[in-house]
Amino acid sequence: MNTQAPILQSLIANRWVGSQAARSLHSAINGRAVALTHADEIDFAESLAFARTQALPALLKFDFQQRAACLKALATYLMEHKESLYAVSAHTGGTRSDNWIDIEGGIGTLFAYASIGRRELPSSNVLHEGPAIPLSKEGQFIGSHVLVPKRGVAVHINAFNFPMWGMLEKFAPSFLAGMPCIVKPATATSFVAEACVRLIHASGLLPAGALQLIIGGSGDLLDRLEETDVVTFTGSADTAAMLRVNANLVRRSIPFNAEADSLNCAILAPDVEVADPEFDLFIKEVAREMTAKAGQKCTAIRRAIVPARHIDAVASTLRERLAKIKVGDPAIEGVRMGALASKAQQADVAERLAALSAGNEVIFGERDSFAPVGEGVSEGCFFAPTLLLCRDGFANQAVHNLEAFGPVSTLMPYDDLDQALSLAAKGRGSLVASVVTKTPAIAAQTVYFAGAFHGRILVLDRDAAKESTGHGSPMPQLKHGGPGRAGGGEELGGSRAIKHYLQRCAVQGSPTMLSAITGEYQRGGKVQEHAVHPFRKHFEEIQIGDSLLTHRRTVSEADIVNFGGVSGDYFYMHFDAIAAKDTQFGQRIAHGYFVLSAAAGLFVSPAPGPVLANYGLDTLRFVNPVAIGDTIQARLTCKRRIDRGNRPDQPPQGVVAWDVQVMNQRGEMVASYDILTLVAKMS
Ligand code: NDP
Repeated sequence: MNTQAPILQSLIANRWVGSQAARSLHSAINGRAVALTHADEIDFAESLAFARTQALPALLKFDFQQRAACLKALATYLMEHKESLYAVSAHTGGTRSDNWIDIEGGIGTLFAYASIGRRELPSSNVLHEGPAIPLSKEGQFIGSHVLVPKRGVAVHINAFNFPMWGMLEKFAPSFLAGMPCIVKPATATSFVAEACVRLIHASGLLPAGALQLIIGGSGDLLDRLEETDVVTFTGSADTAAMLRVNANLVRRSIPFNAEADSLNCAILAPDVEVADPEFDLFIKEVAREMTAKAGQKCTAIRRAIVPARHIDAVASTLRERLAKIKVGDPAIEGVRMGALASKAQQADVAERLAALSAGNEVIFGERDSFAPVGEGVSEGCFFAPTLLLCRDGFANQAVHNLEAFGPVSTLMPYDDLDQALSLAAKGRGSLVASVVTKTPAIAAQTVYFAGAFHGRILVLDRDAAKESTGHGSPMPQLKHGGPGRAGGGEELGGSRAIKHYLQRCAVQGSPTMLSAITGEYQRGGKVQEHAVHPFRKHFEEIQIGDSLLTHRRTVSEADIVNFGGVSGDYFYMHFDAIAAKDTQFGQRIAHGYFVLSAAAGLFVSPAPGPVLANYGLDTLRFVNPVAIGDTIQARLTCKRRIDRGNRPDQPPQGVVAWDVQVMNQRGEMVASYDILTLVAKMS
């Protein structure tokens, strides 16, 4: 054992734990020991108690907006310190661009969630999932859904391949939701996760215990979890299958979100010819997915499904491309593919490849003459990019069942699109599929069928290619996770991911009660009318339910004619009495946009004041027509206010959404919408 290597420590109850050496972790490049795990036992009762009694209350002192701001500050801090993370990550065997996915991809996910939180979440800890639903005739009994903090702990068990991204993409939504996290990285690359958590801890940006780290095993942690907790897992399907039936998790119905093995595929559609740009796109995508991160990506293409008439062309073009890839120590100029993460992984891929080779042809992968470049690489964990050809994907089951988690992919031919889709489905649930096609109808047919078996589908053609983020990149805004073998879980996907860490509760009651519960004015609820016009109040002075009932205005023919002249909108419904007579309204009616404009004229307070801008409308509906001679009146009520904190680059301000109802002389609603304004703060 190399005594020079540092002992990694767990961060438990805001204390670094670990002084006695246990297992040695090695550089994937040259086998040298880079770190040691610790032998000291972790007290998981203490860890959970700290999370529940210290971290949770501290997290819930912040609202969604404040936690989003905290995530942004953390992302900025990590970005400033990223080079130290690249230095540590070099030992995982990845190239700089592989490690970019892990490090900057992870930090980018924090930024993305900070911005999702800022845009989509309220400045409270209750998320209303509206709109409310009327449940009675008189409107005094309504229902809706709210999402509230679960008041539990999130345990995240991560895979070895993305020690930072895997940790941060799960941490970001849990943190926003107000859950303390206990993270258990895979041991093989835990030195990267530890380096990242050390930086986070040193930043002082998070409440104590908001993020705890386990180096080594998770002991009896799962047995100690409670009903309000959550477990997420990324790794092998076998471990997922074992952990999800943990008796305590099952007994207490603790959610277990898994992302596991995935035999992802790419389909070259039957419409693509060798001379088409789409053919090259397919080749590039397959080669890139085989070699990026040495194929250790949960989204990598394991099965390349190709029209039988193109199988030879695809095989030879891919061979040419793979032959150009220099493998070795990524510190050496020109190296495009690094090593697998560990000796265990190297042995595992070799074993699976041997099983896959039975009955299939290895058409690329000179394993005997394979010579990665670099000093000491014979002690490293390198593996030759290997391409197999399976001539009958319906007869050979191994290619759809065995995931060699390395630079290994299998080509298989098909005769028509139905066959290609059947082959794709034989993966029994994957994270992602790509279809490379020129034809929208083929894309539609593929997604209609394959959508049932894949978490995400990339449709690639020459138009999308210029800006495509590629087959292998999960995006924070889009769902990551797949059905069946892929674990059946769901991560990312914008605010969806945050909702996995909140508890949804249906609420029923009067509009006044639901206004108080949701923090949003519900129609029919009590309002406050003051002598001061709502637009003359600063953000801090405006309360939910502050309301103004305007004076009235009778709509004349001159209004319609003038509005037509100003807007250039001479639609027959407003100007042709004969045509309008034959419509469902039986007469000329005012432009909907006139009603909208006239309502603004009714409710604005024109003099300069705290309202800085009107930046749009939501949920606009013209509910009933306004005829010549009708009299309209508006009610403006503060529906929602969001305090996004103050930014140095703009005057202090908050967002206020106003509920607007425009009624006619019979009390019928003619228009309904929310207007969105920015309102100055006093400070
Ligand atoms: P594992 O399933 O062995 O490990 C995944 C995580 O689970 C690690 O953090 C591991 O910790 C932890 N773990 C293992 N056993 C337990 C347990 N009993 N209780 C609590 N935690 C446990 O997967 P590997 O990372 O070793 O990868 C093996 C294979 O999984 C790969 O070859 C690949 O096929 C697949 N895989 C799939 C991924 C995907 O997203 N689709 C991603 C990564 C791998 P520890 O490291 O300490 O054992």
